[in-house]
Amino acid sequence: MHVVYESDSQFVLRIIRGEELVEEVLSFCNEKRIDAAWISGLGACDKTELSYYDLEKKEYLKKVIDEECELLNLTGNIAFVDGERMMHAHVTLGRPDYSTIGGHLHSMQISATGEVHITKLDAKFERKLDEETGLMLLKGE
Ligand code: ZN
Repeated sequence: MHVVYESDSQFVLRIIRGEELVEEVLSFCNEKRIDAAWISGLGACDKTELSYYDLEKKEYLKKVIDEECELLNLTGNIAFVDGERMMHAHVTLGRPDYSTIGGHLHSMQISATGEVHITKLDAKFERKLDEETGLMLLKGE
């Protein structure tokens, strides 16, 4: 991973071919002690693990997309869960026939490049279990 741009609150990273995007972003946020952030990204990937959250069953239905796709959009954030930073992100992937597929991101292997913009927020985000949805939701004041 290369740091392309860095200021007090803004960072642009280039994730290198073969690297796993979530790991790279998390390790960067741990290193920089980024306690709350909003993230966007684009690029290309060749193995992505996604899921869809079934609200009724309260479980993630996982799917591995084992093919070359464009990462059309990644939107995510950084927050703490039980004292550890966690990235929550959703992605839209583009296939060679221009159809799209997307979901909640678990992992993504970059094939060509991953371009990630991180906006550090002056806060510490935390997630707590919400009994009604079964999800770890952002905690409000
Ligand atoms: Zn999600």
